Amino acid sequence: MWDFVVVGAGLAGTVLADKLLRAGAQVKVIDRDAGAYGSKVAGGIFNPVTGRRMVKSWMSDIFSKEAYAYYRQRGEGLGLHLLDHLDMQRLFHNEGQRQEWLVRVDFDKLQGIMAGDIAPDVEDKVLCREFGGVRTSGSWRLHTARFMDALHLEWTANGILEHRALSYNEIQCGPQGLSVAGEKSRKLVFCEGWQMVDNPWFAHLPLRPNKGETLGVRLHGKGPDEMVLKQVYLLPQPNGSYRVGATYDRDNLELHPSAEARSWLLERLQQLIKLPLEVETHKVGIRPASIDRRPMLGSSKMEPQLFVFNGFGSKGVSQVPWCAEQMAVHLLKGVPLPPEVDISRFERA
Ligand SMILES: Cc1cc2nc3c(=O)[nH]c(=O)nc-3n(C[C@H](O)[C@H](O)[C@H](O)COP(=O)(O)OP(=O)(O)OC[C@H]3O[C@@H](n4cnc5c(N)ncnc54)[C@H](O)[C@@H]3O)c2cc1C
Repeated sequence: MWDFVVVGAGLAGTVLADKLLRAGAQVKVIDRDAGAYGSKVAGGIFNPVTGRRMVKSWMSDIFSKEAYAYYRQRGEGLGLHLLDHLDMQRLFHNEGQRQEWLVRVDFDKLQGIMAGDIAPDVEDKVLCREFGGVRTSGSWRLHTARFMDALHLEWTANGILEHRALSYNEIQCGPQGLSVAGEKSRKLVFCEGWQMVDNPWFAHLPLRPNKGETLGVRLHGKGPDEMVLKQVYLLPQPNGSYRVGATYDRDNLELHPSAEARSWLLERLQQLIKLPLEVETHKVGIRPASIDRRPMLGSSKMEPQLFVFNGFGSKGVSQVPWCAEQMAVHLLKGVPLPPEVDISRFERA
């Protein structure tokens, strides 16, 4: 008898299962592709501020603090380097943006994050910084695939993780309790990411998946050591290449790279860097965004042993650890979920 079956081992299912296992629960994890079209495409970045006006995003202080503490502790436990501190160069892409920024940004709220101005310089041989920019501090990059692969390897060896697709008709809920593929379990948590759209118990939730594509490029010449943002991001990788991203597309959710996305990214990259480059990889992922851009945690009204842990959109890396902690104490001890992430907010509306 399992205490919990976790369906999906993207970042959400992996962190939740890790917390349940470490609390001593008997957990079975079932996953089809281990986050290959979601979590493993993520840049792994979490930022204190986002957007053109660099405002703090919803609950970002709470999420970032918990994310940093959790990944750092797990990195130490696994003997892995999981987190890099990132400084960022945020370059303006026209004079209007520079002026808007100077007038509208709330500098008082950015204390400890602003790390200086970047002067305009048309002669810069590497970056297109004709309008200057600002340097910020306080962002982190999680080595997402490294973290997930380490746990998945251990769980596969221990018989915790099964690599296959679970079909919904393998789940039986009845007076005898819950059974999953013929084995009894007390509870089941769906962590299916964007694939939740077909789930018979949770498909009514307002998930708005959107596709993101990134390129892996190699620069000919010495590129920047820091992450650079100017319409797209250019993120240094440990192997000396760079990641460029990302697109947002709600209409086309096909899991293959598109020529349009490649051109869109390369056009913007040419306005960011002057060095010649070659494209080495092109990846696709789907973000499981909710309509109100907040996570979706809760249980089914029809079958209260079935739970959902989803809706992390483009911020899974920062939001998942705090939400997984709330979900774990809810599952283990019945502590109510925080209303701002509880799916009952959609049922009240
Ligand atoms: C291009 C791109 C860049 C991104 N960059 C960042 C970033 O820098 N920072 C950040 O915070 N976020 C980023 N994100 C968002 C981040 O990837 C997501 O928030 C996160 O991956 C969501 O994780 P998840 O586990 O909910 O979903 P997923 O990673 O999609 O995992 C769901 C898993 O469930 C499995 N599954 C589903 N149904 C079944 C079934 N029936 N049986 C078995 N297995 C099943 C799937 O195979 C999959 O492995 C990015 C996303 C994209 C696309």
